[in-house]
Amino acid sequence: MRALGHRMLDDLFDHIETLRDRPVWEPLPDEIIERFQLPLPRDGKSLGQVYEDFQQNVMKYSTGNLHPRFWGWVMGNGTPVGLLADMLASGLNPNMGGGETAPNHLEHQVLKWCREMFEFPAGASGVLVSGGSMANLLGLAVGRHARSGFDIRSNGLIGAPPLVFYGSSEMHSSLQKGIELLGLGSNHLRPIPVDDHFHLDMRALASSVAQDRQAGFKPIGVIGCAGTVNTGAIDPLEELAEFARSQELWFHIDGAFGALAYLSPTLRPRLVGLPKADSLAFDLHKWFYLPFEIGCVLVRDEEVHRHAFALHPDYLQHATRGLAGGPPWLSDYSLQLTRGFRALKAWMALETHGVDLIARMIRKNVQQAEYLAEVVQEAPDFELLAPVDLNVVCFRFTGGSPDPASIDDLNEEILFRLQESGAAVPSSTKINGEFALRCAITNHRSQREDFDFLVAETRRLGKKVLAEA
Ligand SMILES: *Cc1c(COP(=O)(O)O)cnc(C)c1O
Repeated sequence: MRALGHRMLDDLFDHIETLRDRPVWEPLPDEIIERFQLPLPRDGKSLGQVYEDFQQNVMKYSTGNLHPRFWGWVMGNGTPVGLLADMLASGLNPNMGGGETAPNHLEHQVLKWCREMFEFPAGASGVLVSGGSMANLLGLAVGRHARSGFDIRSNGLIGAPPLVFYGSSEMHSSLQKGIELLGLGSNHLRPIPVDDHFHLDMRALASSVAQDRQAGFKPIGVIGCAGTVNTGAIDPLEELAEFARSQELWFHIDGAFGALAYLSPTLRPRLVGLPKADSLAFDLHKWFYLPFEIGCVLVRDEEVHRHAFALHPDYLQHATRGLAGGPPWLSDYSLQLTRGFRALKAWMALETHGVDLIARMIRKNVQQAEYLAEVVQEAPDFELLAPVDLNVVCFRFTGGSPDPASIDDLNEEILFRLQESGAAVPSSTKINGEFALRCAITNHRSQREDFDFLVAETRRLGKKVLAEA
């Protein structure tokens, strides 16, 4: 097993070293899909055989997000340091629910560093979670607990006035999922209109809150987007903080990827107001480049965070001595009791690279986005569909074609071909109803030439599709 383990690690390093030589993504052949229909194994086989199966049937047909030309959705690419840390974490397998262990102290240190990175006060709390969706859910849950005005843990929502959250119409779908799961109902997450730069319109927010109060609703929180998923737009965070304070609303920021731009001194001014959030959700598996899954939520008021989740039955007593002692139990700050050692990869990344290097990579990605936007804007046969606040570029190939109706179909076909040929992976969205090729650049392996290649390949495929028609 030891020898095989060494080989697995070598193979992984080979895989990473040769990423560029392979297609970004490959469609799955039927045999691969059929392989995963095999029945429950009653008897085992050798790990060597199973590993071979993995190499043949799994490794080659993954997401492609490690590749330098992957910019779809918002995905991190993983780092070798993260890979090794995950291996060590899994091997050591500590329970991060709480207790007097070095791993628990380590996670507290990572949380302290996160507070520092986003200039949260020293007394703020936080917890590492699976990702941005969970971080958003927890932030909203603490907000609901803090601002409902009654004992929601005991009474639930029975007899309560409808509790309302607000956020821009560009909010991420995970926030709606969170609101639904919290029992508030998606009708009580008000989508506030945005301006032509996709920033939340403060006046529309103020009038929506005022209207709701008059109509007997209870506004309890407002959500700011630090980097919307569609276009990377940053809401006016400072104004939102001020508005939330004056209206006694919880202020949650979804900074899944965008918050990380705060690490760069050059980009920080774009995110002014970020540290004023009551809760801040962000991912470390997107624009911090770590392997999945790791996200974080920071909460300004530690006590309210703890009171939203802590529960101490007899079999989970915290002690002053022994293994049940130690720093505050992180199971008191989220839904999970047993927790994995995801903190290690964040800790090792920060110790190994230092935060300044990561900040420079983030800055480089923004420069790449600005470069791509510029190339697209200058090309007569391309169109930039949204302003670039950060690292997301939405564009399309027009081929100089005057027929707007067919441009959507043309670009959808280009997208399929870009992906299926393995050339590059953008994803898509709609901007003001128009189909957009969308690159979210959170990729530390991308080089400037990769974007030249993307534009050239998009043009070549676009012309080909037009010629076929
Ligand atoms: C990705 C994303 C999320 C969800 O985060 P996951 O880590 O995928 O759960 C939430 N908000 C925004 C803006 C995102 O980009």
